[in-house]
Amino acid sequence: MIVMKFGGTSVMDREAVRRVAHVVGREQRPRLVVVSALSKVTDALLEVARLAERGDGALARQAVRALHRRHEEMAALVRAPEGRASLLAAIDALFGELDTIVHALAVVEEVSPRSSDLIVAFGELASSRIVAAALEDAGLPSRWLDARTILVTDDRHGAAVPDREATDGRLRSAVRPLLADGLLPVVGGFVGATVSGFTTTLGRGGSDYSAALFGASLEAEEIQIWTDVDGMLTADPRVVSGPRVVERLSFDEASELAYFGAKVLHPSTILPAVALGIPVRILNSHRPEAAGTLITRAVSEGGEGPAAIACKRGVTRVDIASTRMLMAYGFLRQVFEVFERFRTPVDVVTTSEVSVSVTVDDTRALDAILGELQAFAEVGREDGMAIVCAVGERLRTDPRLSTRVLSALEGLPLAMVSQGGSRKNITVVLRDADAPLAMERLHRRFFEDAPAERAALASA
Ligand code: ASP
Ligand code: MG
Repeated sequence: MIVMKFGGTSVMDREAVRRVAHVVGREQRPRLVVVSALSKVTDALLEVARLAERGDGALARQAVRALHRRHEEMAALVRAPEGRASLLAAIDALFGELDTIVHALAVVEEVSPRSSDLIVAFGELASSRIVAAALEDAGLPSRWLDARTILVTDDRHGAAVPDREATDGRLRSAVRPLLADGLLPVVGGFVGATVSGFTTTLGRGGSDYSAALFGASLEAEEIQIWTDVDGMLTADPRVVSGPRVVERLSFDEASELAYFGAKVLHPSTILPAVALGIPVRILNSHRPEAAGTLITRAVSEGGEGPAAIACKRGVTRVDIASTRMLMAYGFLRQVFEVFERFRTPVDVVTTSEVSVSVTVDDTRALDAILGELQAFAEVGREDGMAIVCAVGERLRTDPRLSTRVLSALEGLPLAMVSQGGSRKNITVVLRDADAPLAMERLHRRFFEDAPAERAALASA
């Protein structure tokens, strides 16, 4: 069996849901369908919670009515009158319940994390109803499942931690028999409940996590994450013209790229699946014929060059030189303790015997940090820098790649160069103004002048 997860933009309107039905319908394998809330609905529900907490009952309920209407309009995609009527009844019931809850919370002007989860869960409860009805209407016998009866979590509301064993049991008894009968189970992602039945949510973007957990429990052959882009790209399209879709990525490569804002999915959310060796495929529901990106635990050897390049612009470099050169012992600890105390993450680090350079992108506490560092070091700061990074398992297996990366950057002043022990990336820090040229050159070297067979593969 496989898991097919559809994100918010894949169910944003009637047209999108019709495409979902098409994509699900042409799949032959038994499948569990997991859906996010319609796009922007989770944000809107969080706003409802905020309004209720402020005691703004009228505004909160007005926002609930707007959401009710948006979901109601979706029902028009169901052609069969009985199907449409029962979907409308389900939506009315859900939003009627939500209105009652919001009204009550606004009266007491108190929204606990538990109540917030109760509100926010309506997004996925409603969207999954709509998708189940649309599939049924497209001739695909479906069963809507209440996510709160499937995903068991602890009670850390807003960031609940799944209970894998209990969830396994629920999936075994609720989902497996449906699949065996050729039915299509449809469930909302992101939402769960504690053993005592209180609604919980997994944290933003949590539908991918639900999909990965369900896939791991059901020992899926593959997990498909359907979104609105063709997959992970070889570079940010805002920086490089004509990036390509990366066909295959290892989990580690995807994790490295996540830092650079390759926001297709957060790799940690698919860890439960990848840890079991279940491949995760990123696909575009607006262009289902595109091959997408396949993420696996390890990448197959072969091929050449990095998997992708990435950059982060507008970072600040801090140079810290010990003034007590002979006491280098404990120096790094002292330095990093200061950053830690100000909760400022450090990104790239390079060191020599007596100095260390780091980059930070959150500079809010930097003046204070520099002040403290000055007690035991000479410090310098340079704003307007950028991190450029080539990521790929092959940097580990082919040591010549690092020189090829650096030689592509010939003539550009490099402020820092770093290659870690795992050697899955080589990172340079340079002036922000040079970043676009550096990216273009790297992209040309590794992805545009590449052999024809790779080009053919990438466009397959
Ligand atoms: N709807 C939730 C969110 O927007 C979960 C998800 O879409 O993955 O964060
Ligand atoms: Mg998402």
